[in-house]
This record gives sequence, structure tokens and C-alpha cells, in this order.
Amino acid sequence: MSEMEPVIGLEVHAQLNTRTKLFCACPAGGSVEPNTHICEICTGQPGALPRLNGRAVELAAKATLALGGQVNGYSLFARKNYFYPDLPNGFQTSQLDPPIGTGGSLSVAAGDGGRKAIRLNRIHMEDDAGKCVHDEKRDRTLIDLNRAGVPLIEIVTEPDLSSSREAMEFLKTLHSLLVRLEVTKGRLEEGEFRCDVNISLKPKGSSVLGVRGEIKNLNSFKFVGQAIDYEIRRQSALYESGGRVEQQTLHFDHLKGETRALRSKEEAHDYRYFPQPDLPPVLVSRVKLREIVQSLPPPADTIKESYKELGLKEDTVTALLDRPGAQAYFEEAFKRFPEAKRLGTLMVELFLPALRQSGTDPQSAVMGPAKLAALARLMSDGVLTKKAAYDLFPELFETGADPRQLVEARGLSRVRDESTLQGWIMEVIAGHPEEVKKYLAGQTKILSFLVGQLMRLSRGTADPQKASASLTQALEDLRS
Ligand SMILES: [Zn+2]
Repeated sequence: MSEMEPVIGLEVHAQLNTRTKLFCACPAGGSVEPNTHICEICTGQPGALPRLNGRAVELAAKATLALGGQVNGYSLFARKNYFYPDLPNGFQTSQLDPPIGTGGSLSVAAGDGGRKAIRLNRIHMEDDAGKCVHDEKRDRTLIDLNRAGVPLIEIVTEPDLSSSREAMEFLKTLHSLLVRLEVTKGRLEEGEFRCDVNISLKPKGSSVLGVRGEIKNLNSFKFVGQAIDYEIRRQSALYESGGRVEQQTLHFDHLKGETRALRSKEEAHDYRYFPQPDLPPVLVSRVKLREIVQSLPPPADTIKESYKELGLKEDTVTALLDRPGAQAYFEEAFKRFPEAKRLGTLMVELFLPALRQSGTDPQSAVMGPAKLAALARLMSDGVLTKKAAYDLFPELFETGADPRQLVEARGLSRVRDESTLQGWIMEVIAGHPEEVKKYLAGQTKILSFLVGQLMRLSRGTADPQKASASLTQALEDLRS
């Protein structure tokens, strides 16, 4: 049996960052009660006519241009027919030919240290389906149509990828680009960026493609990697045992780490596309295109270089570029406090995690960039210890209070006064006779416990290094 190599293609769905749905004025997204963001259009009532969201067209064109593709000035919508309980029209409104975008590419690092361009076949617009929610208690399935009609773009690659590593890198790069362009919010856990993977094996060097499996709806980079590796093993084993790979639609069970068949695709591509008579052709003028080109931000590589020159670490830069709005927030703060490294650390360790936890965007955080800059300055000036600053942060984030005023009001300025420090040292020694005895008997590790007690007494205002040195001195004095 000759050696086999994988051939992988991706179909990526990204939810467009619009306020309203693709064909009606209902809000797109936001977690609310089921079936509250619906109307006669997105629930497919007879006679209701769709109206195209212009902002969605702009975002789809923007993605196409940023990926080096060609925006078709004239494109069409089609009805892609299939029956599914959460698809009220009985068809999905999608684009077949011509789509809004054709061609383009995105490069990933290749195994040999160079770059490899992954060609794109097409980018088209379509609407999302609703979802089925199983009600365990009453043992029945309910339909929520809030998501029905939410705008998506589907980006289809050529089968140019040849490993799980390449596929994951492609997806991360694409995600980061689309989020930075604000084409999508890209929240993976909300399904705003998800993909289908087509995968087959062929004899090494051959140009004949094997029969492929299609793994549906993966919304985590890690699962994509695991699913591809599993599928390569499964298909190899089939070929080696003389079996036949069937064309199948597969589901990846991440708990078991394996794929299983959803349905056989004997009837592949039997979607019966029809022209969508309710929508006129989509026209994008040259003037509009020029406007979009001018609005494109500089390429990520250029920004990364300039950030690295400021002294930011690679993962800090990635974190800032991956979170919509984080880069603008950082730059605002940087104008007020030009010490990039300290600001970057505060953002990565405190600000971005707090945003994630509270589900807020950088722009709508009550703690604006000026406040973060003020906090960084207090640390840099030696007024606040790192510990005190980090303890204070949750309150600053929640209330948007001015860090300087809060520090003053709480008496949190770092204590430089020697007699106050000595007072705390005496209190710690008097309060922990057992531990002091152990220390003097040679268990010097206990020092960190005693320093911890001192920091607690000082409510984080003592300088930890100085506290440790002075405490050691005091204990050594006791010994003699
Ligand atoms: Zn609607």
C-alpha cells in the first residue's frame, strides 16, 4: 500500500457584525427570551417579502477585499431547499452563482519554515437557521427562531490544506483578521465563527482525490485539530484493511474524541437551488468598493511589527488584535501613558479577562482607557504596589472610579515610612510565636508565610521586597 496524504478543505461560517438580521429589522443576536427577535419575514410567513441589509453586503465585500479576493459587482441570491424543523421557509437564502466574492488567499506557516498560500474558492452571504431546543422535562423539542435570518458569510477554501496544524493555523489567522476588521464579533462559544471540514486521503503524489468525509459545525480550534487527526486515522485504517471510505456527513463528539456518521451523502448536492425571486440582484458600485478599500486597516503584520518595537511580547500583541476594540482601547491609553509594556500587561492580566467575565466590549467598559492609564502611572510612580493595584482593579473595573481618588480615599499609597513597617513587623512576630520558633530552628521556608501575614496587615501597601528584607533582619536580630 503506497503512502497516503490528507487533502483538507474548509467551509467557514462567520456571523456578520450587523445590528439587524439579513432580510428584516429584527435584532441579530443578543441573548434574550426565545422567539422574541422574530417577525413575519424571518419566520417565513406567506407573502412576507425580504429586504436586504446593506451593511451585511458591505461587510461581506470588506472581508473579500481584505482576503485579496474579487468583489463581484453583480451577485444573486438563491433558495437552497431542504426541510428541517428550524428552517421556517423550507429553504435557506444563500448565494450560488455568482457569489459576492471570488478567489483570494490566506497564507499559513508551512512545515519547511516557509509560507504556504491557501487559496479561497468563494465567499458568499446567507442567512442562519433557528435552533431546536430539547425540553427534557416535557420530553419534546421546541423551536427558537431568534437566530433565523441572522447574516453569515461562508468562506470556502480550495482543498489546499494538508494537516490539522495547517487547518488550525488558517482558522486562527482568519478569525483574527475578521475580528480586527470588525466583520464579525467572532465569539466562538456563541457559534459566531464555526466551520465544516472536508477531508479525504490520496496516494502521495497522486492528483486523484479520494472519497471525502465532511465534519460539520466545529466551533473550537482545538476540536478542529482533534477531529482532523481522528478522521485521518480512521480513513487510513479503512484503506489499509481494504475497506472503502464512504461519502458521509460526520459529527465530531469531543467527549469521546471521535467522529460518527450523521447521514450518508449518497444524495450529495441534492439541495435543488432555485433563483430567489423575492430579491433583486446585489449590486456593489465601484465608488462603494473604493470607499471600502480605503477603510481597510493596515495589515496585521505591520501592526505586529510596530507593537513589538514598543516592547510588547508576541502573545500580548495577539491578545490585543484578537479582541474587537482592544487595540483601539490600548492606543487611547497609550496616548496618556506611553509605557507600552506595563499597559499591555495590565490589559492581558486584568482588563481583558474582566471583560470576558462580564461580557462587555472594550468600548462600553465603564473603566475607560484614561483610567487604565492612570492606574499604570500610579504603579510606575511607585505609589501603588503591584499587589495593591491588582486588589483594587475589580472595583475600578466595576465602578469606573478614578484610581487616584480611590487610592487617596483608602490610604492605599505604598508605605515608605520605616516606623510603620517596623510596627507591622513587631505585630507579626508577636502574633506568631510558633512560626518564629520554627524559623529560628532552621525552617527558613516559613519566612514567606510571615511575609504574607505582614502584607495582609499592610493591606498590600508594603513593598514586598522591602518587607521581606526587614522581616528577615528582625528575625536574625532575635537569634542573636
Ligand atoms: Zn425578523
